[in-house]
Amino acid sequence: MLYQPSPDRYSKMEYRQCGKSGLKLSALSLGLWHNFGHVNDFDNSRNLIKTAFDHGITHFDLANNYGPPPGSAEENFGKILAQDFKSYRDQMIISTKAGYTMWEGPYGDWGSKKYLVASLDQSLKRMKLDYADIFYHHRPDPATPLEETMNALDLIVRQGKALYVGLSNYRPAEAAQAIQILKELGTPCLIHQPKYSMFERWVEDGLLDLLANEGIGCIPFSPLAQGLLTDKYLHGVPADSRVATSGVFLNATHLTDERISKVAELNAVAEQRGQKLAQMALAWLLRDQRITSVLIGSSKPEQIVDSIKALDNTTFSEDELQTINTILK
Ligand code: NDP
Repeated sequence: MLYQPSPDRYSKMEYRQCGKSGLKLSALSLGLWHNFGHVNDFDNSRNLIKTAFDHGITHFDLANNYGPPPGSAEENFGKILAQDFKSYRDQMIISTKAGYTMWEGPYGDWGSKKYLVASLDQSLKRMKLDYADIFYHHRPDPATPLEETMNALDLIVRQGKALYVGLSNYRPAEAAQAIQILKELGTPCLIHQPKYSMFERWVEDGLLDLLANEGIGCIPFSPLAQGLLTDKYLHGVPADSRVATSGVFLNATHLTDERISKVAELNAVAEQRGQKLAQMALAWLLRDQRITSVLIGSSKPEQIVDSIKALDNTTFSEDELQTINTILK
């Protein structure tokens, strides 16, 4: 049956201006790092995209290497787009990246112009797209001059293969340099994608101020610390959780007693606010207007619906913020 998106999807979501650009992003974006590879159930992946879009999420975040196997998330997303979203391409923002290992030999990794240009060509073929909305350099490359990498991003925009460019995992000093080079090239940096959550706060030490001063958006990834900032691990490891099923990026060693007791304390604060912990963790990021969107992952459609309810309350009292800071110390 032909997919018909929910007609009231845009009234359910908040849209935030991405820095000083003209582009607005949904306050929650969906990432395809996990749950979209060839190893995953395709119908579930398809339902995740539909559920997100039905609830006003317009921004979908990919990378060349998402899967497994690498590339398969883009392939599956391309299939879903062709099956269900043909008429909705202009209502979607689709991002992809290059910067981590993608193919063998010296041209399939890091930040050379050769790698970035070739990788985006491959990504577009896998997704069956003419262009990406946002193309990111996924991580800084100490061995390639920043000018070359930024030049590649500029070229890609001039070729019409991406509309905007972004940086990911750049620390403040290298981000500042890259932003300056892009400005001089006439292709301004749109957005920065750092790891940021209650458990990982390095961006508060200079990056957020830099981005605000430069008029650049910020989209934190792993805002739930891959699921740790939910109530799911309070009483053991559920069989369908990332700790049980992935093991690579998140495993039982991350579930220390100290961490679980912090999660329990945060969970109590969330309960007092009338939220689930996952909702409070997202709201805590979104309370800051410098955050354009939070980039969630989901293994089940219900999690998306659950997480969007974070938007019902993104205001925190001074007391609540202080209590949270004390717990996180
Ligand atoms: P999160 O921190 O949001 O973790 C997502 C996981 O948490 C889900 O897969 C699910 O895991 C669990 N979860 C999500 N919502 C709920 C809920 N409401 N209740 C209970 N559990 C929930 O983000 P990710 O780590 O997945 O990262 C998000 C995106 O960020 C990626 O898809 C990718 O696009 C991007 N990213 C970018 C990186 C970069 O270097 N630029 C690096 C990493 C990610 P479970 O399996 O346990 O159900």
